[in-house]
Amino acid sequence: MTAATLDTFARPLKHLRVSVTDRCNLRCGYCMPEAEYAWLPRPDLLTFEELVWLADRFASLGVESVRLTGGEPLVRQGLSSLVQQLSARPWLRDLALTTNGVLLAEQARALKDAGLKRLTVSLDTLVPSRFKALTRRDSHGAVLEGIHEAARVGFPGGLKLDTVLLRGVNDGELVPLLDFAGLVNAELRFIEYMDVGGATQWRREAVVSRAEVLERLTQAFGRLEPLPGRGAAPAERFRLPDGRTFGVIASTTQPFCGACDRARVTADGTFFTCLYAATGLELKSALRRGDGAEALEALLRDRWTGRRDRGAEARLSLSARGPLATTSQLKREPRLEMHTRGG
Ligand code: SAM
Ligand code: SF4
Ligand code: SF4
Repeated sequence: MTAATLDTFARPLKHLRVSVTDRCNLRCGYCMPEAEYAWLPRPDLLTFEELVWLADRFASLGVESVRLTGGEPLVRQGLSSLVQQLSARPWLRDLALTTNGVLLAEQARALKDAGLKRLTVSLDTLVPSRFKALTRRDSHGAVLEGIHEAARVGFPGGLKLDTVLLRGVNDGELVPLLDFAGLVNAELRFIEYMDVGGATQWRREAVVSRAEVLERLTQAFGRLEPLPGRGAAPAERFRLPDGRTFGVIASTTQPFCGACDRARVTADGTFFTCLYAATGLELKSALRRGDGAEALEALLRDRWTGRRDRGAEARLSLSARGPLATTSQLKREPRLEMHTRGG
């Protein structure tokens, strides 16, 4: 077993989130509300071979699980080939993917056959017109079809559905969404609306907090039983009196930075130690000029051992809280965007 690499708060480096593309086929209002975006130049995107080589370097520092995300990971051509290459790594214990589900019906089988263990699909509403208003795209039917296909195919580590709650938009759908998750044998997680880069319309009033979710579900169902064994996972899990389970990710009102063991790499090979970090470490140049495994591992180790990030906690302590970045800052530095950095 690889020795743990600890940061300044003794948090080990364990999980790697790889954003395989900054492009997306939806325009969710909480993530990509603008009309125009500055995209990463295509020649800068790491090839699958480069990504796998980089993942090996992270593994030598203790990473044992990878989540593929984006942007929308399923718009990256041939993604199942990356899944296959990663799942063959001897160090890999878990391989997961987060998707908006639009292209899932056609890819779910290939992803499973390639070795994907766990799948998370974002689903904010069961109402087609609301989906269109939320995402500026008419793809609700495709997403539901994708979820049904994923349930049919079956992933060994299970299926999750993630819902970002927005006050006055989808917060009336807590119970129907839980019922739908039950139908497709998935666990639903409610996510608090975060003031991350890209969320330029974030307002505190629009956040539906963990406390409110738990209160509303207690009113609807009765006592909720907190489930143990959270570890460093972002979601707190609960059981309803009827036995169904669900999660809450309270990144905005009750952040979990103290246990955060996640590194992020963008599609162009920039390493971020926090979703809120102002700057990242550019790895592509070192990788493409052939600096070698040891040199890359030294760069990663230095960055992680010096890590002090507690981004969401720092946001919590602000008295006046608004969007993290302005649109002009985001245009100048697209790596500040959630869809570039990877959610
Ligand atoms: N496109 C894929 C998807 O939507 O599932 C993967 C990338 S997306 C950035 C990953 C997750 O981040 C999604 O579940 C999305 O809902 C969440 N997300 C994006 N912006 C957010 C925000 N402002 N607050 C909370 N969650 C957000
Ligand atoms: Fe929505 Fe995910 Fe695309 Fe962001 S990256 S706009 S959350 S589908
Ligand atoms: Fe980790 Fe940063 Fe998120 Fe805190 S805000 S949980 S340190 S990524």
